[in-house]
Amino acid sequence: MKYSEQIVKEWMELSSVLPESISSKLAVIAEEKAMLLAEEFYDIMLKDPHAGRYLSSEVVQSRLRHSMKKWIVNALTLKGEELLDFAGHQYQIGNIHSRVGIPASLVLKGMRIITQSMLSWIQSLMFEERMSILMQQYVSVSIQIASELMTYAYENYQLNEAKNEESYRLYNLIDNPEIEKGKQQAALFNWENNLIYALISRTNNIQSYLLTDSEFGLWFRHKCGQHFGKQPEIAKIGTLITDIDEMLQNSTSVEGLEPLQSLLSDIRAKTMIINNMFSSLFEDANRIESGKDALTKLLNRRFMSTILKHEVKLALDEGHPLSVVMLDVDFFKKINDTWGHSSGDEVLRHIATILSDSTRASDYVFRYGGEEFMIVYLEFSHHQTMCLVESIRQKIEESPIEMPDGHQLQLTASFGVSHFNGHPDYQKMVEEADKALYDAKNSGRNRVVEFKA
Ligand code: GH3
Ligand code: MG
Ligand code: MG
Repeated sequence: MKYSEQIVKEWMELSSVLPESISSKLAVIAEEKAMLLAEEFYDIMLKDPHAGRYLSSEVVQSRLRHSMKKWIVNALTLKGEELLDFAGHQYQIGNIHSRVGIPASLVLKGMRIITQSMLSWIQSLMFEERMSILMQQYVSVSIQIASELMTYAYENYQLNEAKNEESYRLYNLIDNPEIEKGKQQAALFNWENNLIYALISRTNNIQSYLLTDSEFGLWFRHKCGQHFGKQPEIAKIGTLITDIDEMLQNSTSVEGLEPLQSLLSDIRAKTMIINNMFSSLFEDANRIESGKDALTKLLNRRFMSTILKHEVKLALDEGHPLSVVMLDVDFFKKINDTWGHSSGDEVLRHIATILSDSTRASDYVFRYGGEEFMIVYLEFSHHQTMCLVESIRQKIEESPIEMPDGHQLQLTASFGVSHFNGHPDYQKMVEEADKALYDAKNSGRNRVVEFKA
């Protein structure tokens, strides 16, 4: 049984043994107190400089207090199937906190304050002792369990996000790993050859042959760390470079053929290790490169959360507009059925090219699913966005693609557009674009629909 399932089971058991006389009283108390507690909870959140920034928008304010009130009542009163649903919902709340960037510690603090207020309130009500104790116990354990579920989801989400962010960074910085790798390996061996020649010809200018100042050394110091982040190989390569350069700086005292040969073979050995570690760094990068969608070469959907989180943060900080466009090819299944899967693939590449050609380098285009794509537009007004999307719709309609049997296939697609409205959870925008797309499909396809709240 999963850890989270185990906690939910405990919660269900606990609620089922709570006597009806107590749960009904608790329900009344919860209803009375919930709004006040919700206020208290958000006052704490808003005082936190980090969370405050995300929560201060009006959209959030109006919605959250109300849902917090409902949460408190539900956490303390639900039973059976309803409690099971509610427990599952805690998971989503944890995910939202994580996406929005509300620290788990802060949420736990809020939960503690709700618990304390509830307990003091119950104590002040002068119930018969056993009833009071059971009620207090239920309140503390329920809120504790809900918090555990949220934290569990929070941690899982953060873990996955960290992985995605790391791979996006790598993907973004290395244009073509194979070329970069070849170039730098060549530079390393080039340095080595020049050095061997210099040492054998007894140059007295060994300072200008240090590895750290070579083309490879420069690239390593400036770009490699950025490319690869905190991989252990980076530190090791750095140490090897320092070792080699120290050996070179001490080499002026080397006399005779034998010590020179031994110096050269030491350097050779260290250079080989650098080269091997270097290769393994790039192997990892290659693996990550496959995160690009293989068919269309567009961004893979798994980078979506990293990117949207980043862009929502910028939009919040700087007040720039931000829009999400979902696109779904119309009657795509029929294309597969009529001309085969590989023609279907050709159509997807065709659409991907139109999308890439119609966006700026700063916009993002994702392959979202089978024949679904997503565009993230930055800093266009709502009106500009709608015009652009409309022009893409027309372009698709006016760019037929030739099928293997010579048929000129006219394509159409449906679009749903949503705009950033201050809500810190990017998922909201995605869902709204999705709803608009659904409306575009239902109202006849081949059209652009803007989400309206
Ligand atoms: P609608 O206008 O309602 O969007 O109809 P549709 O036929 O486009 O929609 P539906 O979602 O039913 O069909 C999508 C099809 O896309 C189903 C699936 O077999 C196909 N598909 C998904 N991924 C790929 C892919 O990578 N290549 C190809 N050729 N087909 C794919
Ligand atoms: Mg579809
Ligand atoms: Mg479709």
